Amino acid sequence: MIKIKDLEKYYATEDVKTIALNKLSFEVKEGEFVAVMGPSGCGKSTLLNILGLLDDPDGGSFLFNGTEVAGYNERKRANLRKHNLGFVFQSFNLIDELTVFENVELPLIYTGVKPAERKQRVEEVLEKMGIMHRRKHFPQQLSGGQQQRVAVARAVVNHPKLILADEPTGNLDSSNGNDVMDLLTELNSAGTTIIMVTHSEHDAKYSHRIIRMLDGQKVTENILSEFTH
Ligand code: ADP
Ligand code: ADP
Repeated sequence: MIKIKDLEKYYATEDVKTIALNKLSFEVKEGEFVAVMGPSGCGKSTLLNILGLLDDPDGGSFLFNGTEVAGYNERKRANLRKHNLGFVFQSFNLIDELTVFENVELPLIYTGVKPAERKQRVEEVLEKMGIMHRRKHFPQQLSGGQQQRVAVARAVVNHPKLILADEPTGNLDSSNGNDVMDLLTELNSAGTTIIMVTHSEHDAKYSHRIIRMLDGQKVTENILSEFTH
């Protein structure tokens, strides 16, 4: 599903040039759950931004489902993004002015789903995440664990092929963190590919494989469980 080869990304600020990704290469198969680890500054956020089609690499190749997307402009990236990707962030990134229902409904509005079908699909996913009873509440009225469930619901309501998670348990206590990891594992078992950036060795153990980065490069890979297609 994902094949990156010699990916490069630079940031130039005043006269300093930072190499954020330095010829990074790896593949992720459809249905896999991969964790990406590494110290702060090693390029994980930069990588997620590129994999999430939010940013364009400066060099190398990025095949998404067999199509070269390196060099795509923002319009083409946005189009691919809204139909194929779901994002889960450390800080939940919910919209405070919208209810739980409205937050989860947003991706369906962006992709032009009709209101009746929107209602059905939002309720189905809220039910699955165990937060149906909170659908009329606003994010600030919920616990961190509940907010992350809403964020996961929003990420999956469009049935994306790939979920990108950035420290999804970073703001949660261990019990809520484990619940979120269980939700991600369930989604992966149902066929969704997941790439997760994490600092937590505990959370990384939920994945099939850990990619470890340093200075914009891959240093090692640990296979935790055999992934069979
Ligand atoms: P993490 O906690 O995941 O390691 P960082 O703190 O490295 O994340 O980065 C958070 C965000 O800040 C990222 O989206 C990244 O693009 C941006 N960022 C990181 N370093 C810099 C920098 N030196 N200048 C500007 N933006 C940066
Ligand atoms: P990580 O997420 O692993 O902490 P990042 O991808 O945020 O790493 O950053 C990789 C490198 O690129 C770091 O040296 C960081 O300071 C730099 N960087 C990231 N974003 C920016 C930016 N917007 N401007 C300048 N430097 C950046």
